Amino acid sequence: MSSKKYVVRPETAVLTRGFDPALSVGAARPAVFRSSTYVFSTPESAARAFDIALGRSRASRGESVDLIYARLSHPNAQILEDQVVPLEPGATGAAAFNSGMAAISTVLLTCCPPGSTLIYTSPLYGGTQLFLDSLLTGLGVTPVAAPAGNGAALAEAIARAKNLKLVFLESPANPTLRMTDIAGAVRAARAHPDRPLVAVDNTFLGPTFQHPLELGADLSLYSATKYLNGFSDLLAGIVLARDEELLTQLRGTRAVLGNILQPDECWLLNTRLPTVVLRMNRQSKNAQRIAESLHGHPALERVIYPSLFDDPEQQRIRDAQCDHPGGVVTLEVKGGRAAAFDVLRRLTIVHNAVSLGGVESLACHPRTTTHSELSPEQLDAVGITEGMVRFSIGVENWRDLLADIQGALASRA
Ligand SMILES: *Cc1c(COP(=O)(O)O)cnc(C)c1O
Repeated sequence: MSSKKYVVRPETAVLTRGFDPALSVGAARPAVFRSSTYVFSTPESAARAFDIALGRSRASRGESVDLIYARLSHPNAQILEDQVVPLEPGATGAAAFNSGMAAISTVLLTCCPPGSTLIYTSPLYGGTQLFLDSLLTGLGVTPVAAPAGNGAALAEAIARAKNLKLVFLESPANPTLRMTDIAGAVRAARAHPDRPLVAVDNTFLGPTFQHPLELGADLSLYSATKYLNGFSDLLAGIVLARDEELLTQLRGTRAVLGNILQPDECWLLNTRLPTVVLRMNRQSKNAQRIAESLHGHPALERVIYPSLFDDPEQQRIRDAQCDHPGGVVTLEVKGGRAAAFDVLRRLTIVHNAVSLGGVESLACHPRTTTHSELSPEQLDAVGITEGMVRFSIGVENWRDLLADIQGALASRA
């Protein structure tokens, strides 16, 4: 008799894992457990729960450990963390945070002790860059930048670094969409005697189109505020990893910082995960049709979009690590800032707002908003120009969006 194990695919697992209706009086959807504290089954099990929470002991397989207090964990975080795992190939567990920045800063604080070096790709998300410059440097960590998309420069920076604990990548970079070779960075990190961890901010293409853990990275990080949630109505962050020990450390830092995602937000995010693959596929198809239709438009200097890359090395990285090009399109308008602002003013369907990944389309001027903390020299060095407008394409009908953008560009042609 064969006892074939039936392993379901991610889109199925996200609907079947993590939630046991018997624990919510048979409800088909989980209850929201807002309790801040949990009643122990016995004083012995309370002592056991503390031993495990504080790392003095490890839970054995299948052991049911009492919950303690919601800053450490709570049922809705546990359901969410179980449910998100199948969406990230290679992950064994996840930790939920109350924003993307909470997830990123908790990883940095956990993995970068005083005196250590951290290598990161530039440009980085503005908040992450600010955290490195303002807080981490003050704690005695040395952050070293390497330009996004330059594998040789990154490998050299890694090889030269002393006491290297973390390599932090963001690919594709925001808003230039320059891609960094994740597998190449992992090889360089593995060759370093300090064995630094590799973390990837996977917000732009994950979890649907890019899988850092499969490429050898140790951590995949998300602003779940963006595609994972998809409705621009909550802030959340998720970290996924292969190593349970590392996740336990991150949950330990989370418990002392107090930045776990609250039960209501976990529940909301829970309802959004089953559609993330559907939404992202639609957004990527929409964005690709729009980007390719606008390519060569007389009012545009350039359309920046992965399917339109002309640099052979960028094409190689794209083909090696991305399944589809994603929902972000960056346009470089002729005429600099004034022209870019005119385009933003004329859009009628697409709203002028920062953020991305929602079902509604948004556009912003990165140089004066999301990246305005960079100096003019830094902006020029990473290629964020005055004429750039970044679009996050939603799930609307793409022809309506294209007409809206073409209308906003029309008088500039
Ligand atoms: C938005 C974003 C973040 C920060 O996430 P929050 O949820 O706003 O804290 C980090 N990285 C990237 C790439 C982002 O787009």
